[in-house]
Amino acid sequence: MPREVFVPATVTEINTYEPGEVRKVVLTLPETYEVEGRLFPIQDRMHPGSAFLARPFGQRTGKFRRRMYTRSNCAMDAPRALETIVNDTHREKADTSPWWQSEAIPEIMLSSGTIDVRVDVDEEAKELVVYENSQKIQPNNLILEPDIVWPTMRFLALSFSTGITPFLSHLRYMRKQGFGKSRTCRGVEVTLVATVRNPRQLMEHDELLELARTVPDHFQYHPVLTREWPEGWPFTKGRVMTIEEDGGSESQVNLEPLLALVPNVEQCHIRLCGNAKARDQLTLGLRQLDISPLSFRAEVW
Ligand SMILES: Cc1cc2nc3c(=O)[nH]c(=O)nc-3n(C[C@H](O)[C@H](O)[C@H](O)COP(=O)(O)OP(=O)(O)OC[C@H]3O[C@@H](n4cnc5c(N)ncnc54)[C@H](O)[C@@H]3O)c2cc1C
Repeated sequence: MPREVFVPATVTEINTYEPGEVRKVVLTLPETYEVEGRLFPIQDRMHPGSAFLARPFGQRTGKFRRRMYTRSNCAMDAPRALETIVNDTHREKADTSPWWQSEAIPEIMLSSGTIDVRVDVDEEAKELVVYENSQKIQPNNLILEPDIVWPTMRFLALSFSTGITPFLSHLRYMRKQGFGKSRTCRGVEVTLVATVRNPRQLMEHDELLELARTVPDHFQYHPVLTREWPEGWPFTKGRVMTIEEDGGSESQVNLEPLLALVPNVEQCHIRLCGNAKARDQLTLGLRQLDISPLSFRAEVW
């Protein structure tokens, strides 16, 4: 087991999408940090799609807690500047998620205060390495496939609320790599279906629209608003999958709105990030329609 150390990170950017609900923060680690009298460089090798561990304050419990946050930018673009987007879960036992939405965060930023982020001590290399939740590709995480694999793939990325974070990281990394296009490879294709409740919660919307406009062969963007939409909203309104109670033993899932956006699901590798209910509905709906995607991986919080 590597030895863990928590390093104080400064809050270098905040963007509140919807006050009290959804906020982006950037936690920046120093270049070096002293552990037991020895100065170590901090290395950031986080994989696109992985999560870091921080120690936010629990508003309900009154204690600092350990919580994971998926990084939404990539190490290559911004080493040691860990961007994430956090929402208030509004769960009965919500603890740290409302704290991230509070005035405490701008106060920390203004007073050059800090929030702890975990790094691991690599004694051999004499360095500290930003901790990431996993480096192995598994069905229940969204770490991007290796560089020789993802350029050959077609992804359907489904995000619910802040579940967009791993896909933002993937897209920013892919953009840096020219979407994997070469003489022998057509490059990656990503269709992102990003569901949020209202227009205020759309995350990095302009960047995603612009990306879809500039590289249509590699990226398609379908923002979805489920509860509230402005007049003339040109994209999807309402849920992309719904449960239809038929009184039988198994609920029927209606995937029609999703299939209208992405008719070629069977030729896609599906990646989902959101809640367990959304994952279970999608897998049930696909089974009921006898649709088998090329692969399926989902991370749920
Ligand atoms: C890999 C990963 C990536 C994530 N990425 C993001 C992200 O990008 N954005 C985002 O908004 N959220 C993300 N989350 C969720 C985030 O870590 C928090 O769980 C969420 O913000 C809710 O935090 P909370 O403290 O309000 O409530 P919870 O974490 O749901 O905690 C509620 C209550 O349960 C208790 N509790 C929680 N976990 C445990 C445990 N393991 N054992 C015992 N008690 C426990 C807490 O003390 C608290 O009292 C991610 C989670 C994971 C696992």
